[in-house]
Amino acid sequence: MILVFRAGSTNAEVEHAEERLKEIGLKPHTMIGVERTVIAAIGDERVTSAEELANIPGVEKVLPILAPYKLASKEVNPTPSVFEIGGDSLVKPKATKVTFGGAFIPVIAGPCSVESRTQIIEIAHAVKEAGASALRAGAFKPRTSPYQFQGLAEEGLEYLAEAREATGLPIVTEVLTPADVPLVAKYADCLQIGTRNMQNFLLLKACGAVKTPVLLKRGMCATLEEYLLAAEYVLTGGNPRVMLCERGIRTFESYVRNTFALAIVPALKEKTHLPVLADPSHGTGVRSLVPAMTKASIACGADGILIEVHTNPEKALTDGAQTLSVKDFAKLIKECRPIAEAVGRKM
Ligand code: PEP
Ligand code: MN
Repeated sequence: MILVFRAGSTNAEVEHAEERLKEIGLKPHTMIGVERTVIAAIGDERVTSAEELANIPGVEKVLPILAPYKLASKEVNPTPSVFEIGGDSLVKPKATKVTFGGAFIPVIAGPCSVESRTQIIEIAHAVKEAGASALRAGAFKPRTSPYQFQGLAEEGLEYLAEAREATGLPIVTEVLTPADVPLVAKYADCLQIGTRNMQNFLLLKACGAVKTPVLLKRGMCATLEEYLLAAEYVLTGGNPRVMLCERGIRTFESYVRNTFALAIVPALKEKTHLPVLADPSHGTGVRSLVPAMTKASIACGADGILIEVHTNPEKALTDGAQTLSVKDFAKLIKECRPIAEAVGRKM
C-alpha cells in the first residue's frame, strides 16, 4: 500500500506514520518528494486495511501497489534511481565514484576473469584509457564444467584492488555464494550476481544485507516479473542500490550463445526506476556481433554497458570468443558517442 501525505505535512506526522506502520506489522519505506512525502508500506497487507491507514494523521490517500514487486516498481518511486558506485570497499584507496542512472552512460569493461596480477592491471589501464568508467572481472567464476578454470578467488580480489589503486576505476565482480558476500564486499565496489544465481534467494538476501551496490543479471530463463521480484529481495533487505542487466536468454536459436532480448530494456524502464544495463558480450557470445549490439543497447535506452575486453582475447582463459580487443573496444566507444547523443545521453 502507498500512503500519500498531503502537501505541507510535517516531519512529526511522517515519523508517527512510520512508527504506526511498524506497530501494525508493515515495513515503511519513505520517499520525500519535492511536493509530497510518500510511504510505501511493505508486507502482508492482511494485517491492516486502507481505512485504518487513511486514518493516520497527515495521510491524504492510500493507494494499492498493483505490481507484485513493490520497492522496485515505478508505482512506488516514479522517478529514476540515480546513485553512485565506488567508495564502499574496505580495501583502500577508494575508487573514483561513478554515477549510474543519470544522463551519462558508464561502461563497465574488462576481462571475463582475473587471470593474473599483470593481466588485470594492464587491462584496467587499457580500458580506462579507452573510456571505461569501471572495471569488471570475475575472481569467483560460475563454470558449467568443474574441470574449467574456476577463478583465482581471494587472490583475484587482491589483484582487482591493485588494479583499482592503479587506475581509480571502481570494481564490479561476481559473488557466487552467501558465505562469500562479506569477503567480496570487502574488495568490490559492486557485487555482481550472475545469471545462474538470479533466483538464488539466499544470495539475494545476503546481498540485501550489505551496503555494497549490486549488479543483478537477468536469469537466462527469467521473465520480467521474476527478474524484478529477484531485485525486490535485495531492495527489501535494505540495499537500495540495485542495477539490472540484460545478458541474453536461452531460446531455440543456436547461431548465437544467447538471444539478446533487448526489448526488455525499455520494458523494464516502463516498470522500474532501477538503472537498466546491457551486456552485449554474454548477450551474443560472438565477438563480431558485440559492436552492433552495444550500439543497439544504447539506442534502446540502456543506462550502462557491461562488456568483455582483453589485451589478448585469443588467450583469454574464459569467454575469449565474445571478448573484444582493446583496439576494437576503443573504436567502439568512439562510435557509440554520437548514438548516445542522439538519444539525449552522454558517453
Ligand atoms: C560474466 O559476467 O562473466 C558472467 C559469468 O556473466 P553471466 O552470469 O551473465 O553469465
Ligand atoms: Mn564472461
